[in-house]
Amino acid sequence: MATRPDCIFCKIVRGEAPAHRVYEDELTLVFMDIFPVTDGHTLVITRDHFENVFEADEVALTAIARTSHKVAAAIRSALAPDGLMIFQLNGQAAGQTVFHYHMHLMPRTSGEPLALHTRVPGVPARLAELAGKLARALALVLAVAHMACLTPASVRQEREVWRGEWNARVLAAKTAWENPCATRPFIAWADPFLASCPEGDESAECSARRDWVEDRVDQCRAWTAWQLRNFNKHERTEGEPPSVLID
Ligand code: AMP
Ligand code: ZN
Repeated sequence: MATRPDCIFCKIVRGEAPAHRVYEDELTLVFMDIFPVTDGHTLVITRDHFENVFEADEVALTAIARTSHKVAAAIRSALAPDGLMIFQLNGQAAGQTVFHYHMHLMPRTSGEPLALHTRVPGVPARLAELAGKLARALALVLAVAHMACLTPASVRQEREVWRGEWNARVLAAKTAWENPCATRPFIAWADPFLASCPEGDESAECSARRDWVEDRVDQCRAWTAWQLRNFNKHERTEGEPPSVLID
């Protein structure tokens, strides 16, 4: 993990500086801003040290967006603010004061003057209370998101995308007279579909995904066998090859 010894947020990541932590995963960390401009002012930071948006890579940017989205839902459910400001500053001229890439989530009340920073520290007991509240709300948000990803609708949706891409690939491969089922191209398509299913995960979603990929493997086997028979001229048939297209 790439952290800097003297960076305050890196120290929080390493557990060397205190923070009212709300959530963490392998790429991001969430805690209460110690100088909250409003009640519930929360920061989402990358675990790795990037100075700003220009340094951060796509994986980090995506992780920050994903976590911020979940934290936003948790803030709305736990604190029901009138509005929520999400912002991120780059460089001194833009007001950045901690040079470790992070996102601010700031609940806002109607009519309240806009401000990005304050010098007034938060009351520790209140920060701890908010961190607990948000952590609980976030756990619920994550559980619901997980359940949603178990519904057949999401598998169906992903299959649709996969089907379109796979069929386009098969048609292109046929024109070029390549084998679309050759291990490498096939794996390139099957891998992302199975990426969310670690070995041993027997959930309904993962079983559905594996079955679906297994069907493609069967189709590919049939197609490859037909191709071999015909190319080697033994058992040559004039019939159509078995389809590798997904319908
Ligand atoms: P920025 O000005 O966008 O770089 O934001 C930095 C934010 O980090 C400010 O809102 C600070 O109040 C906040 N901050 C600085 N040090 C800490 C700390 N040790 N724990 C929590 N928040 C901090
Ligand atoms: Zn850092």
